[in-house]
Amino acid sequence: MFETTIAGSLPKPAWLAEPNMLWPPWKLAGDELAAAKRDATLLAIKQQEDAGIDIVSDGEQSRQHFVHGFLENVEGIDFGRRVEMGIRDNRYKAMVPTVTGALRLRDRVHATEVRVARAHTTRRLKFTLPGPMTIVDTIADAHYGDRVAMAMAFAALLNEEARALEADGVDVIQFDEPAFNVYMDAVREWGVAALERAAEGLSCTTAVHICYGYGIQANIDWKGTLGSEWRQYEATFPALAASRIDQVSLECRNARVPPRLMQLLAGKDVLVGVIDVASDRVETAEDVADTIEDALEFVPADRLFPCTNCGMAPMRREVAEAKLAALGAGAALARRRLGA
Ligand code: ZN
Repeated sequence: MFETTIAGSLPKPAWLAEPNMLWPPWKLAGDELAAAKRDATLLAIKQQEDAGIDIVSDGEQSRQHFVHGFLENVEGIDFGRRVEMGIRDNRYKAMVPTVTGALRLRDRVHATEVRVARAHTTRRLKFTLPGPMTIVDTIADAHYGDRVAMAMAFAALLNEEARALEADGVDVIQFDEPAFNVYMDAVREWGVAALERAAEGLSCTTAVHICYGYGIQANIDWKGTLGSEWRQYEATFPALAASRIDQVSLECRNARVPPRLMQLLAGKDVLVGVIDVASDRVETAEDVADTIEDALEFVPADRLFPCTNCGMAPMRREVAEAKLAALGAGAALARRRLGA
C-alpha cells in the first residue's frame, strides 16, 4: 500500500550539466558525456532506493529537456531552424526546432539509459516520455500544417519507442502531458486519442502525468492567475477515466486543486503529488502523511501512489534529495497510521 514513485526527473550533478536550469548545457562532450550520463543515472537510482522509493526512474539524467530529449533522434526535424515560440498558450517563450518533413525514428531514443537503469535496480522501473500534445506544443511546424495530424505522427513514434522500452524491461511507461492543463477542449477532442495511440499495444502499466509545471517563475505567475480553485482537471479527468491509460499523476501538495476532483478518476491508479516542486521548503514526513490522508477521502488506498507534483530537474540537488527522503518516510508513516 502507498507505493511511492516520482514524476520523473531529478536534478543533474554539477559535473554533468549546469545546475538549477531547465535547459542546462552539458559540461562534457562525446564519450565523456556518455560516461557521465551513465554515472548520473546510477546515482539517481541509488538515491531513490535509499529514500525508499518503490518505483524508480532514471531521473532523466540523459536528456537535456523532457521534450527535446525525445526529438533528438527523430528524422524530419531541423534543429538548426529554431524559432521563438510562445508555448503552453503563450505562458513562456522557448526556442524550438522545426518539423520540416515526414517524421521517422532514426534509431532507438533511450536504449542506453534504460538498459543501465534496468541492470542496476531490482525495483520496478518507470520510464517517462513526452506526450504527443505536449510535443506539438513545443515544436514549430513547417510540414504537416495540422496539429492533430502532427500529434498522431508523433504518437506513432512514441509508440515505437515505448514498445522497445517495454521489451527492455520497463514496468511503467509514463507520458508527460502538461499541455493537458492548458488546452482542455483539445484534450477531449483529440488529446486522449493521441495518448492512447502512443500507448497502443503496451502490456506494461501506462501512466499520464498532468501538472502545473516546474517551479519556475513563469509557472508561479501563471498559477497566480488561475483563481482560488484550479479546476482544469475537472475538464479532462472524465475523458481519462474512460481511456485505456492505467494511472494518472497529478499535482496536489500546495496546489489549489480541489481534492474532490480525484474522484473523477474512479477505476484508475492515482499518483498523488505530495511533494511540492515549486518550493525549497522540505516537507516533513507528517506533511506527506497528511496529504495522503486527505487524498484517501477520494482515492481508495490500493489505488493511491504517493508521488512528486512534477519533475525536480531545476531544483537544488540537496533540496531534491531531502524531498525524496520525505516522500519515502511520509508514505511509511501513512502506512503505520493505518496500521498497515
Ligand atoms: Zn510536471
